[in-house]
Amino acid sequence: MSGIDSDTNSRLVYSSDKGSMCPGCSKPVKECICREIKRNALPETTGKVRIRHETAGRRNKGVTIIYGLPLSQDQLEKLAKKLKSTFGTGGAVKGYTIELQGGQCEKVAVELRRLGYLV
Ligand SMILES: [Zn+2]
Repeated sequence: MSGIDSDTNSRLVYSSDKGSMCPGCSKPVKECICREIKRNALPETTGKVRIRHETAGRRNKGVTIIYGLPLSQDQLEKLAKKLKSTFGTGGAVKGYTIELQGGQCEKVAVELRRLGYLV
C-alpha cells in the first residue's frame, strides 16, 4: 500500500473527508462548481419565447409566466429585475421561467420584442 510516492496519493484517495466530495461534479464540496454550472447553463429552447397568463388558483389578476427564454439563470434574473422595474410589479425566477405578478401578457410581449426576443 505505501510506497515512496504514494504518500500524497493515498492521502487524497483515503482522505478522511471522503464524504465531502460533491456527487454532482465530483469535486470537493469546497470547490463545488455545480451551482455555477447550473447558473450558466442554457436551457434547450426553440428560440421562441412564450408568455402565458395563469389565473388558476392565483389571487387577483394571476401571474404572467414567461418561458422559453434562451437565457441562463443569471441572465434570467437580470431580465426579471428589468421587467419588474419596467412594469412596477413583483416577480420571481423559477427554473427557466420568469413569473410576473398580474396579467400583462401583451405589455410583456411588446417589451420582450423591443429587447430583441422572438415572442
Ligand atoms: Zn458540485
